[in-house]
Amino acid sequence: MDENEEGEATEREDERFMGAALDEARRALQIDEVPVGAVVVVDGVIVGRGHNRTRTDTDPTAHAEVLAIRDATRTVGDQRLRGGTLYSTVEPCFMCAGAASHARVERIVFGVRDPKFGACGSLGDVPGHPGLNHASAVREGVAAEACRELMVGFFRSKRAAARSATGIVDRGAGRGADRGAAADAAAGAIEEES
Ligand SMILES: [Zn+2]
Repeated sequence: MDENEEGEATEREDERFMGAALDEARRALQIDEVPVGAVVVVDGVIVGRGHNRTRTDTDPTAHAEVLAIRDATRTVGDQRLRGGTLYSTVEPCFMCAGAASHARVERIVFGVRDPKFGACGSLGDVPGHPGLNHASAVREGVAAEACRELMVGFFRSKRAAARSATGIVDRGAGRGADRGAAADAAAGAIEEES
């Protein structure tokens, strides 16, 4: 394979594994959690899976990526996942990007940015921080539409449920309609709940 073919093969692999991360995100949705899913791949094989369970487990650290990394290290029997790739439907936060660095993950691939918590380009750049002794390559925008749709659909239904339960437009009272529209437009934003 020349470089071009190799790049295309990596792209196809990334899409395939992001599909598995999306399956995990749908599992989160089934238990009424913010739909974020993650998988860890080592040597072309999925060795760890996770989906957001923060409310289910009453655990703010139960993010999809942390759970997938834990699952992966148990599977391979090593706290390091050298050569591994972490796939997440949403940009990993500082905690998850930090965990990926501790695990020596080689690449981080994600679907959509998270402007409120993202630490792989949005609020910071943990994987590329020059002060860390381990750097990970980052690729974003894989299956972005599907990742974003899950998030937008979830928060839209939450807002609708809140409105019909309280009869109040939104917490922002008079600014409610605007806030709703703005939040919808900011597709991919995780909002305060995650
Ligand atoms: Zn996280």
